[in-house]
Amino acid sequence: MRALREDLLVLTPTETVYGLAGDARSDHAVAAIYAAKDRPQFNPLIAHVADLEAALRIAAFDDRALRLAEAFWPGPLTLVAPARAGGVCDLARAGLDTVAVRSPAHPVAMALLKAFNGPLAAPSANRSGRPSPTTLVAAMDELGDKAAVALEGGACAVGLESTVVSLLEGPPRLLRPGAVTREALVEILGPLADAGADARRSPGRLARHYAPQAPVRLGAEGPGPGEVFLAFGPSDQGPAVMNLSPSGDLAEAAANLFAFLRAADARAPVGIAVADIPGDGLGEAIRDRLARAAGKVG
Ligand code: AMP
Ligand code: MG
Repeated sequence: MRALREDLLVLTPTETVYGLAGDARSDHAVAAIYAAKDRPQFNPLIAHVADLEAALRIAAFDDRALRLAEAFWPGPLTLVAPARAGGVCDLARAGLDTVAVRSPAHPVAMALLKAFNGPLAAPSANRSGRPSPTTLVAAMDELGDKAAVALEGGACAVGLESTVVSLLEGPPRLLRPGAVTREALVEILGPLADAGADARRSPGRLARHYAPQAPVRLGAEGPGPGEVFLAFGPSDQGPAVMNLSPSGDLAEAAANLFAFLRAADARAPVGIAVADIPGDGLGEAIRDRLARAAGKVG
C-alpha cells in the first residue's frame, strides 16, 4: 500500500460506512484527514486494526475490553481504552491519553489493514457534520478529490457507524449506540453507565451531526406539503414516500438510513419527515442518528 506509506489517503469500505483512511501513526496523514473532512481537531479518530494482537500494540485492554473484542471482533464495535505510548500519533487521539480502536469485518478493509500492517485512522468519508456515506459513489461525492485511492466494496451491510464503548476507570460507558446493541453488550458486561463525562470526548454525540441540508422532522405520520417522507413498516406508497423497511426490519432500515437521507435531500424538499422508529435493539442507534440529523440532541 504505497499511497498509505506516503501519507496519502484511501477511501475504503467497512461494514459500517465508508472511511477516509490514513496512517494513524503519522501526524501528516492524520492532519490531512482532519483537513479533508473539515473536522474539528478536538474530535479524535478511531484507529482501525487487523486483529486483537494489533490492537494491543496501541491500547491497554483490561479484562472487559478483551471479552468484548473476543465476542464482537471483527465487527462494528469500537473500544476506547488507555493509549499505549508509540501507538497512534497525538493528533489521532486529539491529545487524549485514551485511544478508540476497532477491527472492521469488511473483507476489503481487512485486506487493506493486513497489507499495511499498521493502524489506520479512518473516520467516515464525509465532510464533518454530514451523513456518512454507505456507498462508494456517496463517498466519492463527499471526498473523492481528497483521496489518492478509492476502493470499491459494495453497499455497506450495517450502514450506521460503529457502537463506541469506553472501558476506562469506573463502569463501562456506551458513548455511541450502533449495530452491537446495548442488549448484546449488557449480556457480556452487565449494566452500562450513561455516557456522562466521557460524552464530551465523543463528538459523534454533537447535537447536529449526520445531518442533510433539509430540516428533518421526526415521529411523522406522513409527508407535509413539500416534504419527503421516510416511512418504516407497511405504508401507502406515494411519489414522496421512501420506505426504510416495508417489513419493519430494523437492520434493513439502518442499512438504508443514510442513503435515503441523501436521496431525499437531493430532491431539495421543504423538509424530510421520518416515521417513528421503535427504540429497542438496533432502533436505539437509528433513533440516535435521526435525533442528531434533526439537531434535537443537546
Ligand atoms: P467517527 O470517526 O466519525 O466515526 O467518530 C469516532 C467516534 O469515536 C467519535 O464519536 C469520537 O469522539 C469517538 N472517539 C474516538 N476516540 C476517542 C477517545 N479517545 N475517547 C472517546 N471517544 C473517542
Ligand atoms: Mg463520522
